[in-house]
Amino acid sequence: MVTCRGPASARRGPALAQLEVLSGDPAVLLEGDRIAWVGARKDAPRASTTVEVQGVLFPGFVDCHTHGVFGAPRLDDHERRALGEDYQAIAAAGGGILQSVRDVRARPEDQLAALARERLTTLLWHGSTTIEVKSGYGLATDAELKQLRALQRAGRDVPATLIPTFLGAHEVPPEYANRRAEYVRLVCEEMLPAVVSERLARACDVFCEPGVFDVAEARTILTAARRLGLDCKLHADELQGSGGAELAAELGARSADHLAAVSGAGIAALAASDTVAVVLPATMTFLGRPRQAPARRLVEAGAAVALATDFNPGSSPTISLPLVMALGVSQLGLRHAEAVLAVTVNAAAALGLAADRGQIAAGFRADLVALAVSDWREAAYWMGANLVTDVWTGGSACPSPSARVCLGFHVEA
Ligand SMILES: [Zn+2]
Repeated sequence: MVTCRGPASARRGPALAQLEVLSGDPAVLLEGDRIAWVGARKDAPRASTTVEVQGVLFPGFVDCHTHGVFGAPRLDDHERRALGEDYQAIAAAGGGILQSVRDVRARPEDQLAALARERLTTLLWHGSTTIEVKSGYGLATDAELKQLRALQRAGRDVPATLIPTFLGAHEVPPEYANRRAEYVRLVCEEMLPAVVSERLARACDVFCEPGVFDVAEARTILTAARRLGLDCKLHADELQGSGGAELAAELGARSADHLAAVSGAGIAALAASDTVAVVLPATMTFLGRPRQAPARRLVEAGAAVALATDFNPGSSPTISLPLVMALGVSQLGLRHAEAVLAVTVNAAAALGLAADRGQIAAGFRADLVALAVSDWREAAYWMGANLVTDVWTGGSACPSPSARVCLGFHVEA
């Protein structure tokens, strides 16, 4: 049993490589939706029901960065990239984020909810019991609200905990191309208050990148979000460094995500802050980009590093956090223990949930995942295999998904 037990806060430096593993014959006692006791089975208190688990038990994984509500996959983008076309050429041909925006705007809410339900159930059965999901394919008040309502509906049927984030500032929509300031005002004065009054999101995120939203625009939006009681997150320094990591640290954001182009000053700012550095190696791999986030430097500097899938139809259509853990070891130079803590304790911290989940420890939420392996390091080794045999959320066994659950059915909008 990998417990990840320790302080109820993000791990950094040498502590990020210290993983508690109970071998022999460990047991965990669940009461209601909580973990009541952990230890050697011979010392266990009496339980009304006992379930035997073969393999290795982990805390349920936390996927702290996804864009899990969308319509059709973007297969043409994928093919165009393979033919050597760049981001601008793909966008000019009608692809990119705006293709997903047209799709979400046209698609009814119940279809979006049904697609999200299937896809997020698939993430759950790859071990993710808590999943952050962003809006950001609406880019208009009604369409952003529709996306978040679809997520809320999907959440009623998926046994995972879905954590909604408002990302109205994912891109400037074409109708505002020459009126950027007006779009920023729309996000701050209309979308954010509507999202908050319907309680549709816990956090606000902004895509801070040259050519998308600059540091000043991101600061304006996140300051407005914080005033309304939302947590802040930031897509920072993905392709070009522009001071996004520094801004996230300055604002006390829960996380700064991507960071492939983070500067030395950005690394230092994150290390000196409580902002979690969320790195997304599947994205750079899928995009065929040679440059990954400097995760090793972030760890050595003392930043709290987490890993996530970035599940989305354009740049990271993967549903597997274990695959991302394997990439974390192979592409980012993380130790196996660091990769495990990066998808449990530190990913929970990136969502403000480090005191509630990410550990098999007394008092924590009873979210557990069993993997069919002999050595816990295999969780980050069998690249692409799904090793999950059982999942519990809130103390209850999740029903096995029907064979019909799939990612691909997505009738045209
Ligand atoms: Zn993202």
